[in-house]
Amino acid sequence: MMATLEACVSKYSLTVDASETIDLMVQNADNPWGRRLRDALIQATSGRDACFAVSPYAALSHAEMDPRASDGLDLPDVGDASLCRVLSNLEAAGLIATRTVLHEAPSENYLTDGRIVTAVEVMRPFVLVTVRHSWSSGAWRSMYADRWEIAERSYIVPAGWYLVGEVGEHCYDLAGVAGMDGISDDTFCWLYDLEGFDASHCMAECDSCGSRWTADGGSWRFEPDWCDAPAWSFDDAEDFGPNETVGCPSCGTGRVYFQIS
Ligand SMILES: [Zn+2]
Repeated sequence: MMATLEACVSKYSLTVDASETIDLMVQNADNPWGRRLRDALIQATSGRDACFAVSPYAALSHAEMDPRASDGLDLPDVGDASLCRVLSNLEAAGLIATRTVLHEAPSENYLTDGRIVTAVEVMRPFVLVTVRHSWSSGAWRSMYADRWEIAERSYIVPAGWYLVGEVGEHCYDLAGVAGMDGISDDTFCWLYDLEGFDASHCMAECDSCGSRWTADGGSWRFEPDWCDAPAWSFDDAEDFGPNETVGCPSCGTGRVYFQIS
């Protein structure tokens, strides 16, 4: 089955949501464990609270978490608003190893945003524990909070391989994580072999006269696809209508639909 992505059509804009292509990656994952890492990464990027990576069955007492402890906690705080820093914190803690599979700006395709796909090997299973700190009225001048509680605890992130997908322009957001049975030099090709992931091919078809056109490489120049209809440019498209359609440049009465793959 040819997977096609829903085109977003408006004047001077013919795009597909980059996060939909990351959804394709997740739908084609080898196993469901990507969700565990995804939830953990969301937890680590979600707040200003400390977020510690601990071994799965570590028993942590409330006293051990005291932020005022003079020797400090012997646990890595991996939390950060930036996903990129969370990954490097986990890497520095010796829990994961990462490698960039894909870092791509939206050019020569119809994507709304850039994409980053990072291969992550979780070498030791871990759990993230978010500890919320607060200050009592007597301690507000102090650098260290005198109150703390475990606010959130992730499920175990199993050892194994994962693909972490992000989309964005300057600042990238987590879009999905796929659990994989292995990562190799072929992973890049595997991604582009997923129908639709490339998002560089666009087919247009009129629902009235049946004319068909194709455009490639993110181009707005539509060439007739085995029919007598004239070539046209999306720049000149008119009559933007409902359901992401434009007026047919050939018959003038039909609606032209777009499919990006
Ligand atoms: Zn037509």
